[in-house]
Amino acid sequence: MLKVAVDIDGVLADLYGRFLYLINKDFGTSYVVKDISSWDLFNMLPVTKELKERYGPKTAESVAWRYFDLAWLSPHKLKPVAGAVEAMKKLVERKDLQLDIVTARRVHSVPDIIKWIDLNGLPYHAIVILDTFNPNYPADKARLDYDIYLDDSPGLARKLAGHPDKKQLIFDYPNNRFEFTENVIRVQGWDDVLAYFDKLPNN
Ligand SMILES: [Mg+2]
Repeated sequence: MLKVAVDIDGVLADLYGRFLYLINKDFGTSYVVKDISSWDLFNMLPVTKELKERYGPKTAESVAWRYFDLAWLSPHKLKPVAGAVEAMKKLVERKDLQLDIVTARRVHSVPDIIKWIDLNGLPYHAIVILDTFNPNYPADKARLDYDIYLDDSPGLARKLAGHPDKKQLIFDYPNNRFEFTENVIRVQGWDDVLAYFDKLPNN
C-alpha cells in the first residue's frame, strides 16, 4: 500500500486563479500566474512588494493572507485545477493507494475547504490538516507517514532531500522552479500524475 498525500492549494484547487482575480479586481492590476514570483506572500506580486516597502512585510503578508481567505470564502467560485477531480476518481479506484488530502494552512479556511471538497465530489480516504501557525508543532508534511506527495511547495521539496525514500510530484509553478534532489519529480498537471501512477505496478 502506497500512502499518497494530495495538497489542496495549487494542486486540487486553482487557488491562484481565484486569488489573482480578487487582487486584480481590487488593485486594478492584471496579474496572471506567471507573475507570481515568490513563495513568500509579501514578495509574491509587485503589489505585495509595494505594500512591503511602504508598510513592512507583516502588513504585506496579512493583506495577502486576507486574499487567500477571501478566495476560499466562496467555495463555489473556486475552480478545481484542470483534470483534478477526474484523476482523483481514477486513482481512488486503485486498491494499492491510500489517497489522503493533506493541507497546511491557516485554520480560518478549514470549513470552506471541506465544503469545497464536497461540492466537487472529490474522493479521499482521509483529510489531514496542519495548522501553519501552530508555534508548538511545525506544519511539516515531510514528517508525516507518506510515500508520495502531490504538492507544489518548494519548501517540502527541499525537506525531502532528507527523506530519499519519499517522492514528491511537484506541480510546476513559477515560484517553485529550483533544483531539487531526484526524488522530486516535476509535473505539468494531472495528466503527468496519472502517467506516473500508470507506470507503478498496480496491486
Ligand atoms: Mg499548495
